[in-house]
Amino acid sequence: MKPKRRDFRLDIIVLLGSITAVTIASFGAYRGWQGNWSQAAFDLIVVAAVAAPVLYAWRGGDSLRAGNVLAALNSCATFGACLMLGHTALAWTYLVLLTNFFVAHRWMAVGCNVALILGMQLIPGFFHDGVHAVSVFVSAGLITVFSLIFASRTQDDRVQLERLAAIDSLTGVPNRRSMERALADAVDRFQRGECCFGLVVLDLDHFKDVNDQYGHAAGDAAIADLASILRFEMRRNDQVFRFGGEEFVALLELESREALESASERLRKAVRGALRGPGGRITISLGAALLREQEKTWHDWFSRADAALYRAKMAGRDSYVIADDLF
Ligand code: GH3
Ligand code: MG
Ligand code: MG
Repeated sequence: MKPKRRDFRLDIIVLLGSITAVTIASFGAYRGWQGNWSQAAFDLIVVAAVAAPVLYAWRGGDSLRAGNVLAALNSCATFGACLMLGHTALAWTYLVLLTNFFVAHRWMAVGCNVALILGMQLIPGFFHDGVHAVSVFVSAGLITVFSLIFASRTQDDRVQLERLAAIDSLTGVPNRRSMERALADAVDRFQRGECCFGLVVLDLDHFKDVNDQYGHAAGDAAIADLASILRFEMRRNDQVFRFGGEEFVALLELESREALESASERLRKAVRGALRGPGGRITISLGAALLREQEKTWHDWFSRADAALYRAKMAGRDSYVIADDLF
C-alpha cells in the first residue's frame, strides 16, 4: 500500500471539525429540549455542513480545499449565531478567528476574519456602546494579525523542515527517504499503465582506499563530485538519490532493456571520465533493473538491481550488469 504522507492540516480539520460538530450538536439538542426549534434546526444544519468537508478530507480529498470550506462555514455559522443570539455569541467568534488559521490557507483565513469582524460591526444593537464596538474591533483585528504572523512563520518552518528531511546534506541530492517515496510512486504509476521505469544502483569502486589513503574529507569531496556528475547526467523525468554512504540510485523513465543498458553505460562513462580523487581516477559499478509487472512493491525491484550491482563488482568493477541477465 502507498505510504500516506503526514498531513498536519488534515489532523487539525478532523480534530476541530469533530469537536465543533459534537459541541454544536449538544447545543442543538439542549435547545430542542427547551422547545427552541428554530435554533435547534440552525444548529443541526451547521453540524451537517461542518461534517461534510471533514468527511471529504478524511476520505482522502484535498485537505486545503476542505479547510477553506470549513473556515468559511465556521465564520458564516458564527455570524449567524451573532445575528440570532446577539453578543452572547461573541466568545465563539474569537475561537473561530483563531482556528481559521489552522484549517484554511492563511489568506483565506484573513478574508473570513475580515468579513466576520466587519459583519459584526454591521449588526444593529450588537454592541453595548461605541467603546464596546471599538474594543471588539481592535481585539479581533489583533488576533487576526498575530495569527497571520504565527501561521506564516510555522508554514515557512514546515516547508524548510520538509526540505531538510528530504535532501542529503553532503551532496544536496534527495536522500533515501525521498527515494523510497519516489520508487513507491513509480510502482503505482507503472501498475496504472502510465509509464515504464528503470532503476540503477551504483557504488564507488575501492572507495575505502580513498578514505584510508587520503582521509575522510577527500572521500566526502569525491562523493559530492559524484553527485554533481550524476545530477548533470539526469534527463528530464529522471531522478538521482543518495541511498547511503557512497551508494546512489537513479530512477529513470524508460521503456526497454536497450535504453536501460545505454543509460547505464552513459553514467559509467561519465563518471569514469570526470571523477577524480587525490589519487587519480575513481570509477563506479552499476546494477540496473527494469520494473516488472509482477513487482507490486519497490523492494523486489530494488533487490534485483542490487544483486546486479554485486555481479558488476564481481566482474571486475567499472562496469554495469542488467538484472535480467541473472534469470
Ligand atoms: P567496492 O569496490 O567493493 O565497493 O569497495 P569499497 O572499498 O568501495 O567498499 P564499500 O563499498 O563497502 O566501501 C564503503 C566505504 O565507503 C566505507 C566508508 O569508508 C566509505 N564511506 C561511506 N560513506 C561515506 C561518507 O559519507 N564519507 C566518506 N568519506 N566515506 C564514506
Ligand atoms: Mg558501498
Ligand atoms: Mg564501494
